[in-house]
Amino acid sequence: MSKHGALIVGGGLAGQRCAETLRRRGYDGAVRMVCAEPDPPYDRPPLSKELLASEAGEDSLAYRPAWWYEDKQVELLLGTRAEALDPAARTVRLDSGAELAYDELLIATGGAARRLPFLAGFENVHYLRTLEDARRLRAKLRSGARLAVVGAGFIGQEVAATARRLGAEVTMIEALEAPLAPILGAELGRWFAELHAVEGVRVLTGAMLESGVGRNGRLERLALADGTAVDCDAAVVGVGTRPATEWLAGSGLDEHGVPTDACGRSALPHVYAAGDASIPFDPRFGLHARTEHWDAAAWQGAAAATAMLGGQPGTPPLPSFWSDQYDLRIQYVGHARQADGVAIEGSPSERDFEATFSRDGVPVAGLAVGRPRAIPKLKKRIEAGHRLAARSAEEVAA
Ligand code: FAD
Repeated sequence: MSKHGALIVGGGLAGQRCAETLRRRGYDGAVRMVCAEPDPPYDRPPLSKELLASEAGEDSLAYRPAWWYEDKQVELLLGTRAEALDPAARTVRLDSGAELAYDELLIATGGAARRLPFLAGFENVHYLRTLEDARRLRAKLRSGARLAVVGAGFIGQEVAATARRLGAEVTMIEALEAPLAPILGAELGRWFAELHAVEGVRVLTGAMLESGVGRNGRLERLALADGTAVDCDAAVVGVGTRPATEWLAGSGLDEHGVPTDACGRSALPHVYAAGDASIPFDPRFGLHARTEHWDAAAWQGAAAATAMLGGQPGTPPLPSFWSDQYDLRIQYVGHARQADGVAIEGSPSERDFEATFSRDGVPVAGLAVGRPRAIPKLKKRIEAGHRLAARSAEEVAA
């Protein structure tokens, strides 16, 4: 019988899956979740999609109804932040000053949006990570509003697509020559730029944002290094996320994201990490990589619970991701950064194609646009190519 139980810091997807798996596998110790936000654990992908267009979906956002937490005896400490970890004492200090002891700890504090310091202080500059962020941004997205989207990653692109659907005038500002080029390559990056341009977004690539100009705490204009000015009623910044792990400073764990083995074990005994806060080992590719994807966070949260109970979670699935833009479903699987070539099949101009990324002729990643059935096939091909190459973290380190 456990004394202090399992402590989960972070009430997002990975934390939720950890709690569910502990109970499903018969864990009878206390399970507590420390949740910085006031809302019980909820799903984030709709925040840049349907929920940005309408508040109608808010009721179905929670992973579980309130009674589930009571029934499963999972205690939620809402609106509470973890501030420090003392692994020797096996305690976590909260912002209230209270200390919680644990037998097993999961770090699942997710990611935080990277901020642009020179846009601080403007009330109409938005970041999108939480339900509250989505509510604030939604209030600005009316027809005819001028929205500047800074950063053309997947979140920036989804916001641009949703805003266009609502009739906003959207300018997308991207520092790279083509969106997502470091991951997908310039050719596919240009395809994404074109997708948005055709839908009426003003797409500025190779565009270095230099400053923001405004009055009375409101941003009115963004100035680019080449002299271009972008007038706006609101701006949303999507320039990536960082692991929300600064609270681990001084604990012996890296405060820039927690490296783990494939099951979520950190370098400290009884301390696990999962989801966007973690940098798990991928045994197929022999590398540690942050994934920042829904599927990975769900699997890792459940895997950490299994490992806490002495079980073997198995091989992690390939990293995979989806994005909904306009009427398109875009799916991605694998590690395209590992590729040295890409082959495209289908018709990019008709928004119906798949891309296979390879290294030395072996598939390492795939992208499917408007082809939901292509991904399982691409997964199989990537897995077939990498099953034999699987190496342990120790082998890679040696
Ligand atoms: P989170 O879900 O971020 O949960 C972490 C929780 O920890 C948060 O509630 C946070 O407030 C809390 N927390 C942080 N610090 C502390 C602290 N010190 N103490 C206590 N609590 C703390 N992925 C896809 O695959 N497809 C998509 O289409 C997609 N769309 C997305 C759209 C948006 C707008 C966002 C933000 C993400 C999207 N993702 C998508 C990514 C996916 O949602 C994340 O990968 C996933 O939510 C990560 O889960 P997590 O549990 O690691 O972190």
